[in-house]
Amino acid sequence: MSRFPPELFFSPHKTFGPLGYKIFSSPHKYAQGKGIIQYLGLFLKPLQGDIAVVVCSPSRKNTIGSLIEDSLLKHGAAKQVVFLDFGGECSWEQLENVNKQLEGKVKGKPAFVVAVGGGKAVDLVRALAHQLGVQLAVVPTLASNDAPCAACSVFYKPDGKFDEYVYYPTDPYCVIVDSEVIAKAPKRYLVSGMGDAMSTYYEADACMRAPHGINPVGGRPTDAAVALAKLCRDLLFDYGVQAVKDMEKGEVTEAIEKVIEANTLLSGLGFESGGLAAAHAIHNGLTAHEGSHHYIHGEKVAFSTIVQLCMEQKVEEAKKVAKFFVEVGLPVCLLDLGIQPTDMKGIELVSERSCASGESIHNMPFKVTPHMVRENILLADKIGTSVKSNNQ
Ligand SMILES: [Zn+2]
Repeated sequence: MSRFPPELFFSPHKTFGPLGYKIFSSPHKYAQGKGIIQYLGLFLKPLQGDIAVVVCSPSRKNTIGSLIEDSLLKHGAAKQVVFLDFGGECSWEQLENVNKQLEGKVKGKPAFVVAVGGGKAVDLVRALAHQLGVQLAVVPTLASNDAPCAACSVFYKPDGKFDEYVYYPTDPYCVIVDSEVIAKAPKRYLVSGMGDAMSTYYEADACMRAPHGINPVGGRPTDAAVALAKLCRDLLFDYGVQAVKDMEKGEVTEAIEKVIEANTLLSGLGFESGGLAAAHAIHNGLTAHEGSHHYIHGEKVAFSTIVQLCMEQKVEEAKKVAKFFVEVGLPVCLLDLGIQPTDMKGIELVSERSCASGESIHNMPFKVTPHMVRENILLADKIGTSVKSNNQ
């Protein structure tokens, strides 16, 4: 499968990186609340045109497809709504697949594209919108990661292994989060989002402290971004455990609203404008290990965050974070991710992959080697295992 033609590849690190300016990036608008999906068309009215394209999984189309269609038509955002199927992965193969569906259904350019679903769906549709040269609206159905507000996609190979980051010059036009939809999704996704969101502050802080640290939009972190990332962490510590209890009831509560904002808005702005560091690189390394394939993004990022804190010799903070992860049900050790702690070959592979050139691990304020990553994976595993057994 072909990738983008060269003119569609955007490299913020090459374009802005050498300039060393502070850059803060965000969606044009973010809105969150119970039942907000019925107003999607109102948010998109300024982009009005003949055809709106909505990409989602067939099951999502069944549950909220008509709500979305009605809203777009009712508020005059489009005269016709065309649905395309999302095939479950953000890969170059799947991008070709949605393009083929589009060619069969739409002549010319749609007015805008709406991504409905989890992180992989959002990432794929982001690539489609960029290819078409139209604005993107994001309707997350899970608060499982920080993808909705971002200007980059994580591409995977069809076998689920990390492939590459793809960057775009613009963020989504709007991100519309219906908390009722999120609260009805399985608890695992909101919990996983907390793992992803918890890494945000530690990575932004490391990137800020590294004189060479560059965020994913090619700039130095702003103080605003690091402050948002810190607020993200604090909201999780304050409301995370309660939100997990509330998810059992499937009702939208204050704690759930706070965690949705942390997982989606604060984590999104925090990582994009604050910067990534070791945790996300180690996550990418973990995707190379077969054992971790049944675990979702934020679950792998959770353990990787403990590894990063160990690399920084912040053992007390690592224990505090691990305790929180145990309380909400996130992985804190290798066994929790389907990896045997004695599998040195596997751990070696993860460590090597984490330190690949161009990885965000090189945003750490010190030089990182695969050996250092391996030692700290083992230390994090020990800390996580002991925190877990003390908590039971
Ligand atoms: Zn993430």
